[in-house]
Amino acid sequence: MIYHSTRSKALTATGLEAVLKGIAPDGGLYMPERFPLLPPEAICGLDALGIAKKVLAAYFDELDAREISAVADTAYIGRFETGDLTPLVRLNDSYALELFRGPTQAFKDVALSVLPHLMAAARKKLNMEKEMLILAATSGDTGKAALSGFCDVPGTRVAVFYPYGGVSAIQRLQMTTQEGRNVAVCAVRGNFDDAQTGVKAIFASEAAQKRLNSLGFTASSANSINIGRLVPQIAYYYKAYSDLVKSGAIPIGAQVDFAVPTGNFGDILAGYFAKRMGLPVGKLICASNSNDVLTEFFRTGRYDRRRAFFKTASPSMDILISSNLERLLYLVCGENTARYMERLKNEGFYDVSADELAALKSEFFPARCGEEEYASAIRRVFVENGYLCDTHTAVAFHALWQYHAAVKSGAPAVVLCTASPFKFPAAVLRALEGDAPEDEFEAIARLERATGVTAPRALTSLKEAPQRHKDVVNLEEMESYILRKAEQTAW
Ligand SMILES: *Cc1c(COP(=O)(O)O)cnc(C)c1O
Repeated sequence: MIYHSTRSKALTATGLEAVLKGIAPDGGLYMPERFPLLPPEAICGLDALGIAKKVLAAYFDELDAREISAVADTAYIGRFETGDLTPLVRLNDSYALELFRGPTQAFKDVALSVLPHLMAAARKKLNMEKEMLILAATSGDTGKAALSGFCDVPGTRVAVFYPYGGVSAIQRLQMTTQEGRNVAVCAVRGNFDDAQTGVKAIFASEAAQKRLNSLGFTASSANSINIGRLVPQIAYYYKAYSDLVKSGAIPIGAQVDFAVPTGNFGDILAGYFAKRMGLPVGKLICASNSNDVLTEFFRTGRYDRRRAFFKTASPSMDILISSNLERLLYLVCGENTARYMERLKNEGFYDVSADELAALKSEFFPARCGEEEYASAIRRVFVENGYLCDTHTAVAFHALWQYHAAVKSGAPAVVLCTASPFKFPAAVLRALEGDAPEDEFEAIARLERATGVTAPRALTSLKEAPQRHKDVVNLEEMESYILRKAEQTAW
């Protein structure tokens, strides 16, 4: 399978090269030249791991069946709460697809468990001698999932920067207690955007890259523009479909709608990829919080990042530039994509044509859930279904209700549940009971008592875990911090 940049068909790479590079040299994102076909008949009957292997094999055909198996087995076996990986739970009027049963309690585990082993396989296949140095800026969930995924994977090291004082207590402890001989965690005096800009500056600094190379490293990124993060996510759409067929809820071939809490547009785009591969996906409901730049885009055809940024209770969706949208644009707008991206960079907005907008609207239903609405959504899901969901997932439930109020679909609906409610215990408890204690561990205990749901041990045990990472730097020190770390033979 050949991949090329969304901004230039001439810039090609194999799948494994695209995984190692992360982003194309012209700043575009790698896209497969065509979609491999995988009809639902080909996966119904397989278990979650089997489905993951089918999907990986379709996109990374340079790896043989044994190599694909090794990647998926190492990524998943024994690392998730259940061999089912992403369980589908039946509710009264919809289904909850639980994507948070991995090692760090957020859906990012599904892909960040695979990416390190794809990279390791790629290094081997391409005879790459340099060690991979993975750099990531995080607003909370990506950092821990990357640390957990890359921990002690041979030929890789991972360094994570998070905003000092800018993540929840649980999220901070998840990162600062991380074990492993190839991991570094550092707080940055600044906000998430500052940390992200700092990481981009390290990638863009020729001097830094040269120095890293001379020390035996190639720097790469673990964020969701990497095609190696997108592909593993396709599998859980197939898995949910297979579960619905197995349980007799639908005959094979019937359509299913999916509601997805969206930030960088990676999760929902994987659903669109599944549709193009032949899975009978109906509507993809694109759920945004108050940072509703995507809702506006799907309604009006104008993408405009010149707007206020809100800090919300669903921080992993607080984003104004949804990077993966570029891949969807490429599929719908083709060669106009490069022009739109240029305009976004220079002027802060772009408009798609009326035809392009109509094509987008036929596949996606946009909906917004503001800060005044998510708490009542958490309450309603709990009261009506006895199901406890987190702040991000609540945004998707709210969007699904808006969709059902507007459109008579008739198709079963699956809500993608992206984080454990115990990752955001204070906000969830406040939604249910009106108030919450300062201390997040106390909030966890009260939430357990109020709902009868048990918190994941990986979160409650953080209270006693030793803190191993205490580094804090100023913004302008990020590069020298990484270079200093790179000089150390062991971390
Ligand atoms: C990252 C994240 C999202 C958003 O996913 P995208 O792929 O960026 O759209 C939603 N919920 C949670 C809990 C997340 O960590």
